[in-house]
Amino acid sequence: MPTSASVPLPTSPQPSTRRPGLDAFRAEAHDFVAAHHPLRAGAESPSDEDFSVLPEKTAALEQRELESALSWRRTAYDAGFGWIDGPVEHGGRGLPAAYASAYRDVERQYEVPDEAYTRFSVAILCPTLLSHASAALREEVLTPLRRADTVACQLFSEPDAGSDMASARTRATRDGDSWVVDGQKVWTSGAHYSRVGLLLARTELGTRRNAGLTAFLIDMDQPGIEVRPIRQLTGGSSFSEVFLDGARVLDTRRVGDLGAGWQVISTTMRYERAIIGTDGGVDLLLARRLVDLARSRDCWDDPGIRDAVGEIVAHGRAAALMTQRFLDQADDSGIPGPEMSLSKLMLTDNLLRISSTAQRVLGTGFATDSGEAATYAWHQLALTTEGLRTGGGTDEIMRTIVAQRVLGLPRS
Ligand SMILES: Cc1cc2nc3c(=O)[nH]c(=O)nc-3n(C[C@H](O)[C@H](O)[C@H](O)COP(=O)(O)OP(=O)(O)OC[C@H]3O[C@@H](n4cnc5c(N)ncnc54)[C@H](O)[C@@H]3O)c2cc1C
Repeated sequence: MPTSASVPLPTSPQPSTRRPGLDAFRAEAHDFVAAHHPLRAGAESPSDEDFSVLPEKTAALEQRELESALSWRRTAYDAGFGWIDGPVEHGGRGLPAAYASAYRDVERQYEVPDEAYTRFSVAILCPTLLSHASAALREEVLTPLRRADTVACQLFSEPDAGSDMASARTRATRDGDSWVVDGQKVWTSGAHYSRVGLLLARTELGTRRNAGLTAFLIDMDQPGIEVRPIRQLTGGSSFSEVFLDGARVLDTRRVGDLGAGWQVISTTMRYERAIIGTDGGVDLLLARRLVDLARSRDCWDDPGIRDAVGEIVAHGRAAALMTQRFLDQADDSGIPGPEMSLSKLMLTDNLLRISSTAQRVLGTGFATDSGEAATYAWHQLALTTEGLRTGGGTDEIMRTIVAQRVLGLPRS
């Protein structure tokens, strides 16, 4: 983790004092993005696209993409597009969320580098820190995180504490002005290139399960931390096991109050689910590719395939409208509500419908990379959809949240 001394803080972009109209802002955003990247070409056929929702990369490709993703974030930040709805005192532009959303829509139309590398740091950790971190910690880390000078990962899950994070056993013991951390984390996405991790650790023994937990922002690059990549069924290694053995973190890097780690990670998880849930649109895009696929296989006249595609489009549209209503009704805290779990669930359900329809179209070709158009891409979609269903909370956990916290049903 870079300290404030080791990472030179960039000059904050100078926000304009007047608020542009949304259309003028969109035009400004188009001009800016178009000056750096070409427009995304409309896909003529699904032949060589990658439909993975959690794409796999070789180490060399990952390194190249990481560098260009970080470089693009810095360029955007320095031009005033790095934190459109963020607070001005932390380099944000202080504009309403609708402007940030408009900017994302503009970026989607261009061949910009993959934002997945900085999604946790930028879109999940920064708003969590805004809600929970001390003023000094916010001052120290928000700008480097938003500008991608520092990339972060999420150190929550443990071998016996995935869905049930309140069972976390990784221990932090006070030692002067620091904490000494021992334990093991697992499934940590991006741990191998992250410089800090948002760590959930038990600081009080003998307390109620989620009461004795505290969150810290720990340096990943230190002798007490070992990162071991996990080989996934898709062939890649996008996440790792992380072993902490006498790792150290300063108390000034504590996020929130002592014993308030549960509240901190609850905020983080809400942002994470909202991000997955608001990625609706990917299912409707894939539905179009599905029609292309069915046409190319001469089965678009099959009523069963047409019904399945119709169902996918109907679910996708309904989910998009429902999610928009949730966002419109959000409270002033800006923290996404528990109803975003329903958005995540509806998206992943629709991705399952899509891959099973592709399977019907492709038959046995679905499971083999025969070199025929798109076969591999659809297979990868099916494999990676399982990851998206699990990461950020499994379907069962999402259903429990919806039942108890959205519908108000009693706990069983
Ligand atoms: C792609 C991906 C990226 C990830 N990235 C990260 C990361 O960066 N950082 C991190 O900390 N973690 C990460 N995770 C871990 C993820 O959060 C956990 O896998 C998830 O919370 C489930 O935990 P588990 O794997 O231990 O499964 P378990 O909790 O053991 O669950 C096993 C099964 O039991 C069911 N189950 C468990 N409890 C209940 C219950 N109370 N009611 C009903 N059913 C239940 C689950 O739904 C599931 O089907 C990632 C996972 C994936 C797939």
